[in-house]
Amino acid sequence: MFDDNSHPAAAGPAQTRSTPVALARGREFLSIPGPTNVPEVVLAAMNRPAVDIYAEELLETTGRCLEDLKTVFRTKAADTYIYIANGHGGWEAALTNTLSRGDRVLVLESGRFAKGWGEMGALMGIDVEILPGDWRRAVDPAAVEARLRADREHRIKAVLVVQVDTASGVVNDIPAIRAAMDAAGHPALYMVDGIASVGCMPFETDAWRIDVAVTASQKGLMMIPGLAFLAASPKAKAAHAKADLRTAYWDWTARDGIENYRKFCGTAPEHLLFGLTTALDLLFAEGLEAAWARHRALARAVQAAVSVWARGGALEFNVANPAERSPSVTTILTPGFDPEALRGFARVNLGVILGSGIGDLSGKAFRIAHMGYANAPMVLGTLGAAETALRALGIPHGTGGLQAAADALAGHFG
Ligand SMILES: *Cc1c(COP(=O)(O)O)cnc(C)c1O
Repeated sequence: MFDDNSHPAAAGPAQTRSTPVALARGREFLSIPGPTNVPEVVLAAMNRPAVDIYAEELLETTGRCLEDLKTVFRTKAADTYIYIANGHGGWEAALTNTLSRGDRVLVLESGRFAKGWGEMGALMGIDVEILPGDWRRAVDPAAVEARLRADREHRIKAVLVVQVDTASGVVNDIPAIRAAMDAAGHPALYMVDGIASVGCMPFETDAWRIDVAVTASQKGLMMIPGLAFLAASPKAKAAHAKADLRTAYWDWTARDGIENYRKFCGTAPEHLLFGLTTALDLLFAEGLEAAWARHRALARAVQAAVSVWARGGALEFNVANPAERSPSVTTILTPGFDPEALRGFARVNLGVILGSGIGDLSGKAFRIAHMGYANAPMVLGTLGAAETALRALGIPHGTGGLQAAADALAGHFG
C-alpha cells in the first residue's frame, strides 16, 4: 500500500489537499513536547530480563539514580525521590507530602499547567487561589510580591509555578519570583514544576531556594514516560513532619528508609531505572550546561523560522516577548488557518508529528518541540516539513523560514 490517503487517520482536511503519493515512509518523526524522542542506547538498556529486587546491581542503580538526580536538580541540600508515575503523580507527591487540609496555596497562572496542578490540590482539600495571568505572558514577579505582601497573616503556605508552560510556550523567571517572595518577606514554600524544562535550561534548586522541585522522565531527560522525580529542601521536609495530607504511597518518610523496597513503596521500576541511569549518563557526558546551550540554539532556529513564516499574517508566536519564549517548546497561534489541517498534512504526507494546541489553545495553535534528545537535523527536518505543509496547503507565510533557521544555527558557531 503506497497511498497513505487510504488510511482512516488521513480523513479530514488533510485529505483533500494531500499529494497522491505520501512522503511519510521512513522513520516517523515525533516532534511533540512530551513524550520526546528516546535514544536507542536508552531503549536498549531496558531490553533485558528482570533482576532480583534485592540484587546488588539494582540497589546500586537506585542509589546512583537518586544521586544523579541531585546533579540534575542542582542540589546538595535537598533529598530526591523517584516515583512510578507521570508528571501529574509528581504534582500530587509534592502537595501530599507538605500540606494539610485547608491550607492555602497560590497558583501562578501562565498557561495550562500550573492551573492543572492547582486543580489536583483542590480535589485534595487544599484551598487554591489563582493569581490570574495571561497565556501570552510570563508570570509578573511584581504581582506575586504584591499578593504575598497583602497576605500579612501568612495564610498562603505554598506558591506553585511552572518554569516552562508546555501549552503556552512561556518560560517563567524562577529566580525573579523567588526574589519577589523574599522581598515580601513571605515564608511560603516555593514549589516549581520543571517537567518541561529540567535538562533543557538552567534549573537551580539550591541557588533559587526551591523547596519542592518536580520533574518527570519523558521530556528533557530523554526517557520513556513512567517516572516522576522530586527534590525536597530541608524546609519542605520540616513542613512534611506536620502535613496531614500524607498518604502511604507518596510518603517521603517511608521512602527515606534504607531498604530499596521502601524507596518505591513496593517493587522497584527496574527497567525504568536501568533506562534512566543510561539517559542521565548521556546528559552528563554532554554536560548539563552544554545541553542548555544546545536547547537555546535549537530554540533560536525554530524562532527564526517562525518569525519569517509570520510575515504572511496567518500565524504568529503565542508568546509576544522573545525573552519569555521557552527554550524547549514553541507555541504558534494560527489565526489564519486550521492547525489540525497542517498537523494532519505533516503527519500523513511528511511523517512528522507536530504538537497540537491544548487547553485554551485547542484548535487555535500548533506546537514544535525542541526538547530532550534533539539535534540540528531533527529540528531542521521538522521545520522543513512544517514549511512544506504551509506551502502545500496554500497557507500564506513568509518564505525562507528554513534558511533563517539554518542561519541561526550557523550563528551558534560564529
Ligand atoms: C507534561 C507536563 C506536565 C504533566 O506531565 P504528565 O507526565 O503528562 O503527567 C506537567 N507540567 C508540565 C510543565 C508539563 O510539560
